[in-house]
Amino acid sequence: MTTPLSSVQARLDRLRGDTPPRNHDARTIAALTTNPGCLRRGLLDAAGADKGEIARHVGQPMIFGQSQFAITRGNVFEAQVKADGCAQLYGLLRDKLNLPVPEASYDDLESVGGNDTREVRYARTKQLLKRAVEGDEAGTLFDHPLLRLEVGGHLVYLEPDVIAFKLEGRFHVVEIKSFPVIDGQADAEQVASAARQAAVYVLALRRMLSELGAAEELVSHEVVLVCPENFSNRPTATLVDVRPQISVIRRQLVRMTRIEQVLDGLPEDITFELDERLPEALAAVEARYAPHCMSSCDLAFYCRSEALACGTTDLLGRQIRDQVGGVTTVEETLELARGEREPAEGQEEIAALLRRAERLRRQVLS
Ligand code: SF4
Repeated sequence: MTTPLSSVQARLDRLRGDTPPRNHDARTIAALTTNPGCLRRGLLDAAGADKGEIARHVGQPMIFGQSQFAITRGNVFEAQVKADGCAQLYGLLRDKLNLPVPEASYDDLESVGGNDTREVRYARTKQLLKRAVEGDEAGTLFDHPLLRLEVGGHLVYLEPDVIAFKLEGRFHVVEIKSFPVIDGQADAEQVASAARQAAVYVLALRRMLSELGAAEELVSHEVVLVCPENFSNRPTATLVDVRPQISVIRRQLVRMTRIEQVLDGLPEDITFELDERLPEALAAVEARYAPHCMSSCDLAFYCRSEALACGTTDLLGRQIRDQVGGVTTVEETLELARGEREPAEGQEEIAALLRRAERLRRQVLS
């Protein structure tokens, strides 16, 4: 039987306790996809719990974020690309990507007649988008638009850098980043992270279009990534296909709405309130620590200590954990490899592989 959404929400609110719900942004939504198998993170995010505060309370805070220098450089670069009604951006879309952008219209949605509340900006974005969908004007560009996406039962407001409306009636999300493209190459991890964030915006924009009764496909899966070129401040643009990221994020968002199954397996009185019961509550929800948690989740130090104490194979990364599937600790893995432990039922195949790997290792070493 399905639990009504309102009761799931009430339970999630109880789990969070007195702390106000933490808002998601594109970065935090994108990060959901980096460890979709972790129930602890899924539950805390669905409840809107502040993982940073939780980590601090259990004495294992993480220090995330860009340096002040990088933030300032990013802001300066974005302001430069968007100056004079996005003049540089139009030039890039025309020249670099050979997009036939004709006469442009530009709307800044940072505030609406002096009103900068999220609701008003969202309503204005939707209104202008409707006009752009229904009209035949090409080259429309929205600066500071505001979109919404449902995450774990909550509506989250999101602000892409820019949405551009091109010929053939398709919208493209533009993501402006300050990491450099040197000789046509950029850091793969930074591009992947930008692609995940842009995919969140594509999904939110598609949602808005479907609310307007328009086809979702009007939003292109190709986003425009704008970065500084080489060691200068000169911008360059690249089209990035974010279809894989869209599928992963969509799957993860659907999974979050099924959070009631996780709730069903928990004691009724559990809460992540910042008090002495917190470690017990955290321990009650299964985590799946992996080394990449260190760059994407506030609870990484806490979960790593926990994984170290248990000696789980999670510590060795997702690839190895999956390869030794069915064997949960490093100690058990080594004992099976050395033939010091009889494989349990279902472990015969992996035990044989581990013994062979150990034999090969010894041969190479000798
Ligand atoms: S750090 Fe912990 S809670 Fe966060 S994703 Fe990793 S295992 Fe899950």
